[in-house]
Amino acid sequence: MKKSPDAAIPRLQPVPHCPLCKSRGGSLLWRDQHCRVVLVTDPDYPGFCRVIWNSHVKEMTDLSATQRAHCMRVVFAVEQAVRAVFTPDKINLASFGNMAPHVHWHVIPRFARDAHFPHPVWGRRQRSARAAKSPPAPAHWHALLKSTLAKLL
Ligand SMILES: [Zn+2]
Repeated sequence: MKKSPDAAIPRLQPVPHCPLCKSRGGSLLWRDQHCRVVLVTDPDYPGFCRVIWNSHVKEMTDLSATQRAHCMRVVFAVEQAVRAVFTPDKINLASFGNMAPHVHWHVIPRFARDAHFPHPVWGRRQRSARAAKSPPAPAHWHALLKSTLAKLL
């Protein structure tokens, strides 16, 4: 029998050694019953956010179509909020899960003279912290990001 794409996925138990089951994974900006948005602490990348699915699910295709759509709606809202607050040259969206196989998306504001540009933030550093020149983050950007996101979701 063919399974409906929106069939309920059984709620999975937290996995003991998964860092995203054990902790929030960053400073909480927003959450609902399905996923959360956290701010990653990275001095090179203020505004680096993650959208983390709350239950331990390995792949996007382990989610129902409705759940996937919800997850991406949140990812795009975070992208929109980060763009509004930081006005970056580029947004990087990434989902790997190689280290923590628990569905999560990285939303990273990038600037042409940031520490790694044009490479991914996980790549080889292109500039020292002193040479990297990202525009200063706006005042109260944490609160601004949180309130912008709340309006979008
Ligand atoms: Zn997990």
